[in-house]
Amino acid sequence: MTDSQHLYEGKAKILYRTEDPEILLAYFKDDATAFNAQKRGTISGKGEINCGISSQLFSLLAAQGIQTHYLDRPTPNSMRIRALQILPVEVILRNIAAGSLCKQTGLPLGMKLDQPLVEYCYKNDALGDPLLTRDRLLLLELATPDQLEEIRRLSLQINSYLSKFFASCGLTLVDFKLEFGLDKQQQLLLADEISPDTCRLWDNSTTDPNQRVMDKDRFRQDLPNVEAAYQQVLQRVLATTRCAAPLDFSDTVGDAGVK
Ligand code: UDP
Repeated sequence: MTDSQHLYEGKAKILYRTEDPEILLAYFKDDATAFNAQKRGTISGKGEINCGISSQLFSLLAAQGIQTHYLDRPTPNSMRIRALQILPVEVILRNIAAGSLCKQTGLPLGMKLDQPLVEYCYKNDALGDPLLTRDRLLLLELATPDQLEEIRRLSLQINSYLSKFFASCGLTLVDFKLEFGLDKQQQLLLADEISPDTCRLWDNSTTDPNQRVMDKDRFRQDLPNVEAAYQQVLQRVLATTRCAAPLDFSDTVGDAGVK
């Protein structure tokens, strides 16, 4: 790609323009950051792995009627995506208490939540991505009330599909982050990525609190074998996607919550 096509560089991806103004190219980097970029490093092969996992998961969700920005994957490290106006909101879905939920509420790590928790953070590095109330989100006009309702409905539906999919991979989807954007018709589409950088995934084959970690917490906590864990997630995602019997999502519910 040329400098003139370079649009934006984030912590984990670089966005390039294409000849079509409605389509961008997202290049996934091996760079890793944590704690609001206070910890920086490289996870070798991460870009290709996360691009592979994300493209598989976006395709899976599209097959379930969830609209996403993903178009295709022309190279191992890059995906073509629809150009969207990204809402400055990080949507966090939680099934099990971990991370900032434990820190901020005192809930014990690993406590299963009775129902999925949907939270919103202000996507603003200078402010440290603070947790938002619904009223603050609306006060700042980060989304309209209708968009917020749609975001919540879609996020619960996505959580329902992904939890079931990852369970088939022998992984527990503890929590994850989503981002949404608007297209020219003001339609809401799922954006960004879904990968071990943005999800907490625990290996179901062990209860050892260090061994079970298959995501960026290995990097955050300086645990060994970060690359191997990401690679293992990719291999399981590919194996489950290729599995002859398609997953039955008929018992997953979007509108009314999650069964
Ligand atoms: N997350 C993310 N990007 C962020 C913040 C969180 O992808 O900027 C993901 C994180 O990997 C985890 C989930 O969202 O899967 C919940 O993160 P949490 O609020 O617990 O924050 P953390 O403990 O990661 O600081």
